[in-house]
Amino acid sequence: MVYLTFDDGPVPEVTPLVLDILRKYQIKATFFCVGENVLKNADLFQQIREEGHAVGNHTHHHLQGIKTPNKTFFQNIEKANQLIGSKMFRPPHGWLKRSQYREIKKKYTIVMWDVISCDYDRTLTPEHCFCNVIDFVRDGSIITFHDSLKAQKNILTALPRVIEYLLEQGYTFKKIEIPKTRPLISTPWQRQLQELRENISKRLKWA
Ligand SMILES: [Zn+2]
Repeated sequence: MVYLTFDDGPVPEVTPLVLDILRKYQIKATFFCVGENVLKNADLFQQIREEGHAVGNHTHHHLQGIKTPNKTFFQNIEKANQLIGSKMFRPPHGWLKRSQYREIKKKYTIVMWDVISCDYDRTLTPEHCFCNVIDFVRDGSIITFHDSLKAQKNILTALPRVIEYLLEQGYTFKKIEIPKTRPLISTPWQRQLQELRENISKRLKWA
């Protein structure tokens, strides 16, 4: 089982086509939306939700945490939250200051990834992006694509190929859902670590 995730949208040039692809294969995925894009394309955001996909917060202006003062950064996340209303947060570029991480995790589950297609890199071909995914994917992987203009050239060709390849390999696809009682564990080794911790705490309880 794997999780497909799409960052930076919604945009009218790419997001509807991604939704078409997901509908064709009956796959539910997770969209980490940028607040200002949600504002501009409210109908598309609505469509993402109506089609049963999960949504997460990717800040209002796609701010990079390490380059942004904390107060500005937190306000930007909250501004996006007013539009997106999700308990999941993914930091743009995958970077956060430790102080930001500590604050954000009080309210959100921070969702990173372990496989990235690099579809935003225009010097790469769709073939490269396909290989970036299939070379590293494993059970439980969170795979990242981008429904953005930058990625348009690559994603629309690479995504269906990735899906067909993974279906052939026997994978199923799920959207990310935050359990009410337990934090989401994002990669297989983190899951193992969590299980180990739980076993230890169980043993301590019975000791
Ligand atoms: Zn992003």
